[in-house]
Amino acid sequence: MTKKSAKREPAKKASSKSAAPSRPAATEPLGEYRRKRDFTKTSEPAGAATSRRRKTLAFVIQKHAASHLHFDLRLELDGVMKSWAVPKGPSIDPGVKRLAMEVEDHPIEYNRFEGTIPKGEYGGGTVMLWDQGTYTWHERDPDPEQRLRDGYASGDFKFVLKGKRLGGSWVLVRTRRGEKKPQWLLIKHRDEFAEQGADIVAQEVTSVTTGRSMEEIAAGKPRRSSRSARQA
Ligand code: MN
Repeated sequence: MTKKSAKREPAKKASSKSAAPSRPAATEPLGEYRRKRDFTKTSEPAGAATSRRRKTLAFVIQKHAASHLHFDLRLELDGVMKSWAVPKGPSIDPGVKRLAMEVEDHPIEYNRFEGTIPKGEYGGGTVMLWDQGTYTWHERDPDPEQRLRDGYASGDFKFVLKGKRLGGSWVLVRTRRGEKKPQWLLIKHRDEFAEQGADIVAQEVTSVTTGRSMEEIAAGKPRRSSRSARQA
């Protein structure tokens, strides 16, 4: 879908059931993601058609050594991965708030991406799968995805992670709307997965899927055996 016309389509999108629009200027899903990348040069996925209905919602965190090292938190919602760049990464200490800058939606296929984006391309650098799993609304509810959608839209986005390294209850709180890059804070709630004073991103420095270090991924080394991955 590449409509050149800049004309606004009046009120077509107002049929959405939720009162708060998720984003102004809703363009085609993944449009911004695709515009920023040259898929003849990067091995990142272009992304298939969105919004396959799935029973569980995925989450992933990727460690990304681009021009600045950061962690990308991605939470599946409505067929895409809502994404935040978290410069310092998540903290499991409930007293620590981590800045999370919202970035463009990514395709669900991105959840399997680990490798190196060529220098000079958008986000050029090494990408490690740092954690992965599913996430849910924090209480029983007949429509948990709607509760998550409401939370995201309202800027008070509570959820429960079921990952290999992160778990329990979290919240993203939007602190600045901004046209392009809304800012949020990522905060761990107090529960059995929280640990005061812990530095989880310093403790876990290898890929959650291949056991490789950032250097090994950058060098294109093969995955480690599951035994050494467990030791790492
Ligand atoms: Mn990134």
